[in-house]
Amino acid sequence: MIPYGRQSISEEDIQAVVEVLRSDFLTQGPAVSVFEGGVCDYTGAKYGVAVNSGTSALHLACLALGLGAGDWLWTSCITFVASANCGRYCGAEVDFVDIDPVSWNLSVERLKEKLETANKENRLPKILVAVHLSGLPCDMEPIHALSKQYGFRVIEDASHAIGGRYQGEPVGSCRFSDITVFSFHPVKTVTTGEGGMALTNDQALADKMMRLRTHGITRDSELMSHEPDGPWYYQQIDLGFNYRMTDIQAALGISQLKRLDEFVSRRHELADRYDHLLQDLPIQCPSRDDGDKYSGLHLYVVRIKKHGSSGTHKQIFCYMRDKGVGVNVHYIPVHTQPYYNQQGMREGSFLEAERYYNEAISLPMYPELSEQQQNYVVDALKEAISDCRST
Ligand SMILES: *Cc1c(COP(=O)(O)O)cnc(C)c1O
Repeated sequence: MIPYGRQSISEEDIQAVVEVLRSDFLTQGPAVSVFEGGVCDYTGAKYGVAVNSGTSALHLACLALGLGAGDWLWTSCITFVASANCGRYCGAEVDFVDIDPVSWNLSVERLKEKLETANKENRLPKILVAVHLSGLPCDMEPIHALSKQYGFRVIEDASHAIGGRYQGEPVGSCRFSDITVFSFHPVKTVTTGEGGMALTNDQALADKMMRLRTHGITRDSELMSHEPDGPWYYQQIDLGFNYRMTDIQAALGISQLKRLDEFVSRRHELADRYDHLLQDLPIQCPSRDDGDKYSGLHLYVVRIKKHGSSGTHKQIFCYMRDKGVGVNVHYIPVHTQPYYNQQGMREGSFLEAERYYNEAISLPMYPELSEQQQNYVVDALKEAISDCRST
């Protein structure tokens, strides 16, 4: 089976991990700080807080921004459930914004309308999680302007977008957001096995997230309620978690980061080939570069245009799987998940997202995908489409 995504591990990566195993530190130690520094250097953000998953980074980001019961968090309907769940972890209510029919990211037009209504009803969000779907940056400048107008905070869920750019700056610079989050799950562009990072330019937010990743404990006497009892002393001043990244993971991350640009340009090479090879098919290829935006290209999603039968999308998907192509669907609209139905969300409320869901298929996209394999994927898709048309 040709998977839709896969890590690329070099001998150097393996060596880096082995070295940590022979060192004094296994869990959070010097490699974690080096990895944080490396991601900050790459993105231009001032502070990086490495944690054990992208989900944990989202959770800490929400907590650092003060999200709690009675607040609202909004995000795109087309994302992984974690972009929404982080709000629920904090006891906040979650609502969604429909997507743009071209970029498939959350629509700034829909956001604007929803904010106007919410403003009248006195239920403005505290946080917007802007998800850079497939690695394509959202329209951050207008989103930032709206956040100032309506007084909400912005988290970029850049789990797909490391290595991407917006207005010439690396995703993660936090120029138009409070915090940016990366995931280092193995299907993502850079991996640490499991892992994530929250980036920010705000020292207070960084300090808070660093404290929360390790139980809410501090050794800084200035933050304590009284003088330390002795050199052993620490105080727990918040309710935190054990969200630490290990040095084993960080060593892999440091080594992977060296190949980030290579990974992303290889992804663009493959995407160029897909765009070309698929141009005569009745499908919509993803938007990637438009001067302002350069995609990190975690995913290559195509939309199958309807030709009559409503079963087509599923038939094409199953045909590809039968041919050994591990296509996937990113994502099931989050508001249609049973858990969010229990929270009052209803199918039929975000039609653009629901249309997307009925057409989207993720084709294999990862640096080690060969051109031969890619040709096989394209041939299988062509067959699938003509096969489904004739039935
Ligand atoms: C992968 C992913 C996450 C969660 O990251 P983990 O590291 O798996 O916890 C969050 N949001 C999006 C959009 C993702 O793709």
